[in-house]
Amino acid sequence: MDERAALRMLAADLPHAGDDAAVVDSTAITTDMLHASTDFPDGTTHYTAGWRSVAASLSDLAAMGADPTAAVAAYADTEFVDSELRAFVEGAQDVCEQSTAEYVGGDLDTHSELTVTTTAIGTVDEPVYRSGASPGEVVCVTGTLGRSAAALGLFESGDHERANKLFRFSPRVAAGRRLAGVATAMMDSSDGLARSLHQLAEASDCGFDIECSAVPIDNACAVCEDRWEAGVHFGEDFELVCTLPEAALDAVQRDLDVSLTVIGEVTDPGVTVDGEPLADRGYTH
Ligand SMILES: [Mg+2]
Repeated sequence: MDERAALRMLAADLPHAGDDAAVVDSTAITTDMLHASTDFPDGTTHYTAGWRSVAASLSDLAAMGADPTAAVAAYADTEFVDSELRAFVEGAQDVCEQSTAEYVGGDLDTHSELTVTTTAIGTVDEPVYRSGASPGEVVCVTGTLGRSAAALGLFESGDHERANKLFRFSPRVAAGRRLAGVATAMMDSSDGLARSLHQLAEASDCGFDIECSAVPIDNACAVCEDRWEAGVHFGEDFELVCTLPEAALDAVQRDLDVSLTVIGEVTDPGVTVDGEPLADRGYTH
């Protein structure tokens, strides 16, 4: 059984699950696990690992429209090296400083490879779920897509400095907060744009028609063999994918600290690009 089948099996017993974070009363909570072999390519610094691990959880809070309060990380490795631990915490603290979150500690353990589990909590008055999209609305994405695919290429080619920089993404916390109350459905693009659209479509019982030329693929993808694959299927970009009424678009775009690009419209069921089916293929953990 793959990750998605396992999540589906458990969903029946977990009524708060199914979105980027669970919301209980006004508290949003999310957790994530990352491993050296699947999430931190050779050349990833511990500073970047700390930043990225915590940022992934802050991104999940952003996707609910939540205001992050705090993050913790459980850190496991084959040994503890003081410079690596300090760099990890520094990365975690620095990404928290971009928002209202505070990095407040965690746990240490030994393990066969670097493994990090992060948990973040936040407050949210108007949570945005995946289930509220309606035909006729526009579907948008923040920022640009494909940076993590480009980073992987740079790690492989030995340009570790640029790769680490691309890997330290900014979680879209301020954008998520602004979109709360306006966006009808939202999630982050951690599994890739294609899979995110399919997940939103399933939760909202709708479909999407995407305009290929409108998808904002990052210039860094020039190093990738296939820009479309890098931007749409590779995933791990942590941008927000959301739907909203077209009439609300201008005001939101003016207020955001990041671009918000209309990539298509909400339709009846079926996810298409320029009218052709878009495969539900992306990052599987
Ligand atoms: Mg997510």
